[in-house]
Amino acid sequence: MLKNSPENIKKAAAILRTGGLVGIPTETVYGLAANALDRNAVKKIFAAKGRPADNPLIVHIADFDDIIRYNLVKEIPKSAKKLAEKFWPGPLTMIMKKSDAIPNEVSAGLDTVAIRFPSHKTAQQIIRTADIPLAAPSANLSGSPSPTSAQHVMNDMDGRIDAVFDGGMCDVGLESTVITLVTEIPRVLRPGGVTLEQLKAVLGEIEVDHAVLHKLGDDAKAASPGMKYKHYAPKANVILLKCSDEEYIDYVNKNYKYGVAALCCDEDIPYLKAKTFSLGKRNDYAAQAQRLFDELRKIDENSDVLTVYSRLPSVDGVGMAVYNRLIRAAGFEVIDLEKI
Ligand code: AMP
Ligand code: MG
Repeated sequence: MLKNSPENIKKAAAILRTGGLVGIPTETVYGLAANALDRNAVKKIFAAKGRPADNPLIVHIADFDDIIRYNLVKEIPKSAKKLAEKFWPGPLTMIMKKSDAIPNEVSAGLDTVAIRFPSHKTAQQIIRTADIPLAAPSANLSGSPSPTSAQHVMNDMDGRIDAVFDGGMCDVGLESTVITLVTEIPRVLRPGGVTLEQLKAVLGEIEVDHAVLHKLGDDAKAASPGMKYKHYAPKANVILLKCSDEEYIDYVNKNYKYGVAALCCDEDIPYLKAKTFSLGKRNDYAAQAQRLFDELRKIDENSDVLTVYSRLPSVDGVGMAVYNRLIRAAGFEVIDLEKI
């Protein structure tokens, strides 16, 4: 594990320049970085993660003009400039038509490429020092929760990659918002730290892909290939309850038995009989986003937890991103107490 120091920034950059893999901190989650323009380096990412080859990677840059400097896209849509002015550097990934400089391994055979300029200072320093764009999916084993600390990366990736750079806990804690700019109306493919409301304030009309909040049909084609894979599921069975705060506590207490736990909020803890994993204060969606993956990993560490009850989150603001991840963790299993 590399601690934060100027020498270690140089070390990480050197590994990346010579085709190696480094786990790097970003403000969303830790990324597993490789030179985005070197297909052999990129192939190592898929091998280390056990990632299906048809799941494309996000290319990370450290300046808007890197898109031009590295010749990453066919053309830059006007909407990309507007969004970048407002949200870059930050947790927003934009999809544009790819150029031939992007290896097919990065785009997983699509004719588009996903690009992000992270706000995390260490990520920026590593990208600038390496002087290459970095392909970097989340640094977890495919199927496990995304890593929000260097230790999470070590747990999944030790022995599979060349180094992990320790940048502390991630601020946002969930992966970036992904928006495609190649459709007539820009469309959110994955919700994240930049909210639908914020995007609409800049671009006006925006669509939300059906798969963001709903289960994809068995033969439906995913606009964002990552959406079709089972994601973020802990070993325990997660069940979401659509209900009021009082009903939640009542239901979990009535169903309490060996193996039952609650993924809940701080305010619930004194009233629950079950073991609790708290996401933070009830109305603090940003805290809930930041802690979600860490709590899911903690649940996995407790082999005596068999069933976890959580509330169906609100879809307002960052809540939509929490909803999107939790409903996948629950395999779309929701009990609507209002209808019972
Ligand atoms: P990760 O970096 O692990 O959060 O995964 C990146 C996600 O971005 C994947 O799940 C993809 O579905 C999505 N993505 C990346 N590139 C594209 C693209 N060209 N078109 C659509 N979705 C993309
Ligand atoms: Mg991922």
